[in-house]
Amino acid sequence: FLSDKSAKVFVAGHRGLVGSAVLRRLVSLGFTNLLVRSRSELDLTRQSKVESFFAAEGPRYVVLCAAKVGGIHANSTFPADFITVNLQIQTNVIEAAYRCGSVRKLLFLGSSCIYPKLAPQPIPESALLSGPLEPTNEWYAIAKIAGIKMCQAYRIQYSWDAISAMPTNLYGPYDNFHPENSHVLPALIRRFHEAKTNGAKEVVVWGTGSPLREFLHVDDLADAVLFLMDQYSGLDHVNVGSGREVSIKELAELVKEVVGFNGALVWDTTKPDGTPRKLMDNSVLAGMGWKPRIPLKEGLVETYRWYSENVLKQQ
Ligand code: GDP
Repeated sequence: FLSDKSAKVFVAGHRGLVGSAVLRRLVSLGFTNLLVRSRSELDLTRQSKVESFFAAEGPRYVVLCAAKVGGIHANSTFPADFITVNLQIQTNVIEAAYRCGSVRKLLFLGSSCIYPKLAPQPIPESALLSGPLEPTNEWYAIAKIAGIKMCQAYRIQYSWDAISAMPTNLYGPYDNFHPENSHVLPALIRRFHEAKTNGAKEVVVWGTGSPLREFLHVDDLADAVLFLMDQYSGLDHVNVGSGREVSIKELAELVKEVVGFNGALVWDTTKPDGTPRKLMDNSVLAGMGWKPRIPLKEGLVETYRWYSENVLKQQ
């Protein structure tokens, strides 16, 4: 893949956190024939539109980053949207990519929430479907599990090269900074920034602060995705993590420091904690020779700068 720089590569979901990072990485590596469509140009939930697009464009590679995503609150509030939209997008893209005949390889992006709530930690790839899911995001998780299984099924039935990567919690530029519906890291960047700007004395953080989470900068994920496109053609999905865990309390303290807020933290324990711990076992990918590069603090500083220069300027 990496030596095929003039090949047509379709990045589905190029405006999102992951897709935009994959696109940046492809450009920086010298890929010259990148194919993208905004949502208004191509609605991936519409099967016939997706089929016509693939038939007309005939891409050689597909990176499927498009998905409806959100944090713990969004997932529990909009379960129907999370399961339906994700199943539609991934089913349409995987099926049309296979049917059009030109696609040599497709990579599907999942999420660490596919694993059971009480999976062994760090979570190995083999933990998939070994126990009940975390109820707050099972709708999204079930759709993502179906995507992994679809890639496996097409490999088994058609010998088609579809692979899946499961990233841990991601952050970086082009994240969703919505106050209620985003993930914890962008939510905290925004809340601490607004508290600093408004001269507030305290910032409310959800839950108890005790859950542990692993965070990976999205530029590291993009690097891993292209590495897998190049190096991996197996049946099993592959975890992509940073191997570094922090508690939500430690994360909140770190964001507070990076943003430069001087007040207090208040814990709203009426909000759910979600799964107690979620650390990926990164050893399969590490064994292939890949490792992450961006430390959490450095990534946070850079993400806060991006937020200040982009999101705030648009408001
Ligand atoms: P999860 O990793 O799927 O649970 O997704 P989130 O990123 O939404 O939440 C991670 C953890 O951060 C949970 O324990 C939340 O309760 C906690 N958290 C603390 N403050 C916030 C916040 O403002 N927004 C979100 N989404 N989570 C928060």
